Parts: sequence; structure tokens; C-alpha cells
Amino acid sequence: MKLATSYFGSRILRHVKNDMGKLREQGFSRIVHTFSENDLYYYPGTMRDIVQVSIDLGFDVLIDPWGVAGIFGGEAFSRWITEQPAISQVGASGRHLGGACLNNPILITQMTEWLDAAAATGAQWVFWDEPHWSPGGSPRNPEGEHCVCDFCLEKAGSRGITESFRAKSLVLFLARMVNLATDRGMKSSICVMPQGMAGQPGLDWPEIAALPGLSEFGTDPYWQAFNIREAGQRDRFIDKNSTAAREVSTTAGVESMLWTQAFRVKAGDEDDLLDGSKRIMNHNPDTIAIWGFEACAHMSTLACADTDKIWQGLIDIYKGISK
Ligand SMILES: [Zn+2]
Repeated sequence: MKLATSYFGSRILRHVKNDMGKLREQGFSRIVHTFSENDLYYYPGTMRDIVQVSIDLGFDVLIDPWGVAGIFGGEAFSRWITEQPAISQVGASGRHLGGACLNNPILITQMTEWLDAAAATGAQWVFWDEPHWSPGGSPRNPEGEHCVCDFCLEKAGSRGITESFRAKSLVLFLARMVNLATDRGMKSSICVMPQGMAGQPGLDWPEIAALPGLSEFGTDPYWQAFNIREAGQRDRFIDKNSTAAREVSTTAGVESMLWTQAFRVKAGDEDDLLDGSKRIMNHNPDTIAIWGFEACAHMSTLACADTDKIWQGLIDIYKGISK
């Protein structure tokens, strides 16, 4: 079992280098560097340096389209959806829903630009993080509308824009992204949200894991973030999602990756977090990954109440299990 974490919030090379060195000493061998639209436009050269120092220290580097186009996980703004409104998902009310439409050709053009820059960083992997349609209840989509833009209407045709159409559109988009990454010599890892979360259509995990060119499949059963409070329910949620991710990965012949939550863990919830995380690790994925670095101590809206307890606790559990 390999150990990974995500890293973001610092673009100062000497600090990043110092942090990467510490992570190697703590047992980490894979690193997810976020590469938002802000990074794309303002830090492309800096990100090349950051990826290079990580590789020089022995890391396997995954680069993450963090919050890009409003369709991937991440606390980052999208310039594309503000500067190019034609890229947006559009609800039946005419409201722009806060993310690009997965069926919009402008998105493919923009993602190609992102991928060219991602490949230029030298990262070996793209980490396709929680691809999703705009969730209902978010500020830009309070009514939980679905995209009915011209591209969706045309593609759906007489079948209509159903849940299965939205699910299939997401899978076809990912297939396209994996292809484009492969063309640039990069491996792809996909992390899907657990089934039934954030108002997403039910995705066909076996189909995604078997996408041509994919190298890794995983999920992030963040039960606390998804507001699951009871221990029995927690364990069932972890087991169901971890088992499914492991099984479809094995069947597809790709590596498996399971994420554990090290953000927004409230005071008093630390033991529950560590108990559940141990359960996730006991599923023995190829990689166990922690979101994110030092329990997000450096970022006030994501930081855990007791960052030291969570971060060190997770490393200790990993060391105990992987020996
Ligand atoms: Zn659409």
C-alpha cells in the first residue's frame, strides 16, 4: 500500500521543497499537486519547478484540475465560466448553474489547453478529481436544476435529458479526457464521489474503471463531510464504497485508490475520523490518500480543529497497517 496526499496553498518553491522532503520522510511516495485555472494562467512555470522538485525527491506526481470549469472538486474559482458564459450549464429557468456543460465543445477546447500546460509541468499522472454536474443547493444552483443547453438537447434527442443521459455524458467526457492525457504521455487516475452524493446521477463504476488508457480508479468515502454521524452507518458507507472501488479496479486491471478525510474535522470528531480511516485502510487499496497536507492546517476554511491529531494519527495508522 502506497501513501499519498494532496498539496496546495504554497507556490514558493523553497517552502514546497521543504514540505516535500518532510513528506518523503513520513512515508509518502505519491503527491497530488493541484493545478487550478489560477495556476494555469499565473503559475505555469512555477508549477513546472514544483513538479520537478517533487520528482527529484522520488515522488510519483499526480496533477489535479482543481475546481477547473466548476466541474472538478476544489476550492478554486473558474475564470472560464465567468469570461465565457457560453460554456456554462444552463437550467430550464435560464440560470447559469456554476459549472461548464460536459457536453459543450468549448469545454473540450479549454480542457485541451489545460492538459497541454499540465503535461508541460512534467507530472506523470492526471488526477481527475470528483468530476460532477453542478450540484443542487449550491449558490449558483439553488433549485437543483439540470443543464438543458442546446448541446445537451441535441445530444439527448428524443430520449430527453434523463439521469442516465447525464451519467453517460459524464463518462463520455472522462473517456475523452483520459484519451487526451494518454496522447500527452500522461497516465490517468479517476476519483468519483461515492454513489448518491451531491445530487449526482448514478455512475457506472465498472465502465469508468475500464475506460481505455485508465491506470487507476478510486473514490473518497468522506462520511463526515457527507454528514454521516452514526458509527454503524459510517462503517456500512465505508465498506460499500471501498469494496466496490477495489472490485471494479481489480476487474478492470487498474490500481485502486481510496481517500480519507483530513479537512473540516470538527473538535470532538477526531476519534471517529481515525476509526473510520483505519477501516478504509484495512480495505488495502493500492494507494491510501489523505486530503490534504497536514490536515489542511494552512487553509482556514478546510483546516481540522486539531490538525496535529488528525495528520499524525493518519500517518500512524498507515504505518501500523502497511508493515
Ligand atoms: Zn448542457
